[in-house]
Amino acid sequence: MATDEYIDNDSDFIKSTDKNPSNILPEKLTLASRLRFECHPKVSCFTACCHNIKIILTPYDILILRKRLNLPAHEFVTEYTEPTYLEKTDMPGVQIKLAGEKNGCPFVTPEGCTVYQDRPTACRYYPVGMADFHEGGTNDAAEDKFFFLVKEPHCKGHEEPKEWTIGDWRADQGVDLRDQMNKEWLRLIMRRKSFGLQATLSEAAKRMFFMASTDLDTFRKFIFESSFLDTYDVDAETLAKIKEDDVELMLFSFKYLANTLFGAPGLTIRQEKVKAKVEEIKKRQDEALQQAEKEYEELKAERDRMEQEKAAKKK
Ligand code: SF4
Ligand code: SF4
Repeated sequence: MATDEYIDNDSDFIKSTDKNPSNILPEKLTLASRLRFECHPKVSCFTACCHNIKIILTPYDILILRKRLNLPAHEFVTEYTEPTYLEKTDMPGVQIKLAGEKNGCPFVTPEGCTVYQDRPTACRYYPVGMADFHEGGTNDAAEDKFFFLVKEPHCKGHEEPKEWTIGDWRADQGVDLRDQMNKEWLRLIMRRKSFGLQATLSEAAKRMFFMASTDLDTFRKFIFESSFLDTYDVDAETLAKIKEDDVELMLFSFKYLANTLFGAPGLTIRQEKVKAKVEEIKKRQDEALQQAEKEYEELKAERDRMEQEKAAKKK
């Protein structure tokens, strides 16, 4: 039974300028718990948390940001991100590339975030993290989910009078949609984490994970312009959707990665391909058998020759 932790206490998926775990309050919160917090241009720390931070981008973050900036995926990734490893695994991903003297997010200005409506998941979570522990594969895991508060000394939002429930705060930040969009991708990383690094993941598999996670344009080409569709049986309705719709393509890529990286169900290999593979294995086995038989015959002939030599010497 695999246990998935989408966001754990030292998660990379919550924006934080300080990795000190004592800033995470040791209290499990629910959607009904109350939070006193507000962030607005008049707080003295305004935009402090947009500097010296690590902001991991999920595939959905990349999709939304690059659409906003009207850039192809590869240009967005080159211009605004740098490579990193995800959640202390060997899974490659990207984080926002900080810039300038103050080491700030490229989207921050003194007036605030220039991509606020489309800001990444990590920026929306702050300062409420989510931990989700449940068996992979189940959908309704509300009972395994809890929230926690990050309270860093520099963040003065906690001194503001406004009160919310965690549920209202999350709705205001638009995190439910993000949770839904990121869920299967985060599950891939947590699967990798729970398998342990001793289980090998080939470099080609990691490259595929990176490509599908960061560049849907190339992933679409891979689906429609390689031998992919000769190998996998994908129904016409799904094909029509993923051809046009980036979100559908992204969700499909998670299914594909779960299937190829971890053997999860969800994609069917064409029968003729399975047959061809079985034939190929059988052929290899037959060849190996023939080779073994040949070696045995040679060995036997050699032994017979030596015995004959021995017998001839005795005479
Ligand atoms: S994306 Fe916006 S909110 Fe997030 S760090 Fe950058 S400027 Fe700040
Ligand atoms: S109040 Fe907190 S979240 Fe808002 S700008 Fe200041 S540090 Fe960032």
